[in-house]
Amino acid sequence: MTYDYLIIGAGLYGAVFAREAMDAGKSVLVVEKRPHIAGNVYTEDIEGIHVHRYGAHIFHTNDAAVWQYVNRFATFNRFTNSPVANYKGELYSLPFNMYTFNKMWGVVTPEQAAAKIAEQRKEITGEPKNLEEQAISLVGRDIYEKLIKGYTEKQWGRDCRDLPAFIIKRLPVRLTFDNNYFNALYQGIPVGGYTKLVENLLKGAEVRLNCDYFSHKAELDAMARQVIYTGPVDAYFNYSLGTLEYRSVRFETELMDIPNFQGNAAVNYTDRETPWTRIIEHKWFEFGKDAQGNDLPKTVISREYSSEWKPGDEPYYPVNDAKNGALYQQYKALADREEKVVFGGRLGEYKYYDMDQVIAAALARSREEMAR
Ligand code: FAD
Ligand code: UDP
Repeated sequence: MTYDYLIIGAGLYGAVFAREAMDAGKSVLVVEKRPHIAGNVYTEDIEGIHVHRYGAHIFHTNDAAVWQYVNRFATFNRFTNSPVANYKGELYSLPFNMYTFNKMWGVVTPEQAAAKIAEQRKEITGEPKNLEEQAISLVGRDIYEKLIKGYTEKQWGRDCRDLPAFIIKRLPVRLTFDNNYFNALYQGIPVGGYTKLVENLLKGAEVRLNCDYFSHKAELDAMARQVIYTGPVDAYFNYSLGTLEYRSVRFETELMDIPNFQGNAAVNYTDRETPWTRIIEHKWFEFGKDAQGNDLPKTVISREYSSEWKPGDEPYYPVNDAKNGALYQQYKALADREEKVVFGGRLGEYKYYDMDQVIAAALARSREEMAR
């Protein structure tokens, strides 16, 4: 055996696992099928702007240990995510807060806003059974119709009544004037981009890019004592029980010879008709400045289109509904029998993980493995 660990995937899970293994004196080989490291948090430089190639990534966490950990590998700026919702040209603040309620209903005090929501949520009796009921119960029908329904149906390709309630509970609802999209104690964007952060995590590791594990599986497996697999769990078993559903995303990225396209990092298009879900203007994650603090003269935007995943596409979001949950449990039973393999990360565990949760999971699992 040449290596202690063969790690499939150079995303955050794989990179954190690799770091911990190397720090414990173990040898690792990381294989990645894409031509670059960093998985979905990959950022690339276009005209001095760190472009989030696989979608906007804002680091946020309440976990002090994870925050300390990532700060060993990058310095974070003070970016706070405050997306704007565009509903047929009407602009609303997100997440749902006093600015949103004021614009929607003209209410001025928290008491007035709470009364409006209470009146509108009356149509929901009992525990909300799906995303539609959960949304109306949180913010009322007006906001559901203008800011949630169209966006959610575009993003998930499913009716809000067929989606799990937990998805909408990701968003804060506040009776204060606070546009911070996350309820997180710590938040920011790594200065220099996420790719640099992952490069620092992987320092000292042998990494093979453009290498699909399944094309060389027997040969690679023979090289290591243990495998850490962060690709899709159903792909590992050659879809033998059927395919898990994922949502895929396509980005149309454009370099523009103007300094400011939309005045904000993220604008969500919440009507049903606009074909994209959101537009990201990447320079605003770093306040429109280059590394020297100069204003950037150009801008790069990405329009984000959501679609159902089909073989050959990149899987982005697991569809964590009951049907897929049951199929995942069957794959999990198979995975548990693979003694030489750890299944980790968003795709390996089929979980709607944020970055901090992926890091926490990789830290916990790697420390368990190192202690064996
Ligand atoms: P990945 O980054 O997917 O890494 C897995 C790697 O394995 C990939 O590089 C893949 O190419 C490789 N791989 C797969 N199969 C094989 C194979 N057969 N052989 C070799 N390599 C293989 N989180 C936040 O905290 N904040 C955000 O703002 C945020 N925004 C997001 C926006 C979008 C559009 C998406 C999709 C996700 C967002 N996330 C966000 C979540 C975040 O991207 C994930 O939590 C995190 O990147 C998952 O890391 P991972 O290592 O599990 O997976
Ligand atoms: N959502 C919405 N309108 C918005 C933004 C989000 O209805 O303007 C809903 C949508 O269902 C989405 C969920 O809230 O799937 C969670 O949003 P989040 O921004 O956390 O999704 P992600 O960043 O993972 O794409």
